[in-house]
Amino acid sequence: EEVGRDVGAGGVGGGVRARRLMANRGGGGARGRRRRRRRARRRATARMRSDDAKNDARARRAAAFARARCGVELHAHVNGCVREDTLLELAAARGLERECERALASDRDLLACFEIFKLVHACVDDAAALRRVTREVCEDFARDGARYLELRTTPKEQIGKERYVEAVLSGLEDACGRCGGDGADGELAARIILSVDRARDDDASKAMETIDLAIKYKERGVVGVDLSGSPVVGHWDRYVAAFEKARAHGLGTSLHNGEVANTEAEQRAFIAFRPDRLGHCVYTVRDESLLRDLLASKIPVELCLTSNVKTRSCAGFAEHHFAKLRSAGHPICLCTDDTWVFQTSLSREYAIAAETFGLTDDEIRDMSTRAMDFAFCDEDVKLNVLANIRNSTS
Ligand code: 5GP
Repeated sequence: EEVGRDVGAGGVGGGVRARRLMANRGGGGARGRRRRRRRARRRATARMRSDDAKNDARARRAAAFARARCGVELHAHVNGCVREDTLLELAAARGLERECERALASDRDLLACFEIFKLVHACVDDAAALRRVTREVCEDFARDGARYLELRTTPKEQIGKERYVEAVLSGLEDACGRCGGDGADGELAARIILSVDRARDDDASKAMETIDLAIKYKERGVVGVDLSGSPVVGHWDRYVAAFEKARAHGLGTSLHNGEVANTEAEQRAFIAFRPDRLGHCVYTVRDESLLRDLLASKIPVELCLTSNVKTRSCAGFAEHHFAKLRSAGHPICLCTDDTWVFQTSLSREYAIAAETFGLTDDEIRDMSTRAMDFAFCDEDVKLNVLANIRNSTS
């Protein structure tokens, strides 16, 4: 195929460059073609074997982390983590099965993902479905070795914002007990962050409504607020007052930051707001002056390796800004973002980090422990979770 392209570029019939290439790669004629095909097949097989070996090693490592049960997840969106069988079942009941299968098969950049979320929202469209999905997401994280989980979700008019919050909290309680548990029993402790969606919450009063719900439901497991949704719509100015109010009421704040290019002014404003955590920061790290601001701020960054690679925000795992922030000693934590959308899990993210950046099991465990410093839950829950992580064995 490569040769074909070169020949085409060299002109019909092949120029000198093309003929030289042909000779180098096995000569012209039928024999040459056969030889080239054999070589290509051998190369493809070798590539597949090395991919398989990598995947096997990653799967073994992920299984070891899951067994170790030391995961801490601080950035996962409920509907993006829906269990696939459940989604297909809900979709079938709503005549949307085909669309779901197509969505799963499709390749996607960040903006295309927002179309996929619309489909998930069309399936998880009532309180019962949402309660079930929330419970299952907690169960799946627990099974994958998470000891502490902060799940975020956007209250939606479609269900009624307050009913939405009630349904999510019921699902949380179904899985983890009252208020999402406290980790004292060694089981998963989980909490909820309410998200303001830049597209849905398109005026200040809608954002404020979500913040008021977060304040109202603090005693039942809501610990923070987040700004998410399509990064190409909405303005920070619209949301500042709401996030200031949340902070004044003791809620944690997290902002999706630097997911797309040409948003320097907004990124600067986000950092200046001094939220408790920032999500992603892909483009922040690529701009010298923003990077300086970020490092000086010491704001912990929630990093989502697979999400950034699959949405093509990062060229590959090795190019991910995890390495840059880690070597600068900046506070970071590993997160999944959306386990269903990106077909990943927390243990897989840890395995990828270990494999790509050469981290030992102890270093990975330290990252988990460190992540608890940035968690929004109460201190006693943190102490319980830290003790559970300490006592966990692989
Ligand atoms: P939900 O809030 O419905 O539980 O979870 C899905 C929603 O989370 C999406 O509609 C979107 O608003 C938000 N979301 C999920 N992943 C991302 C992401 O990578 N970036 C941003 N900005 N928002 C996301």
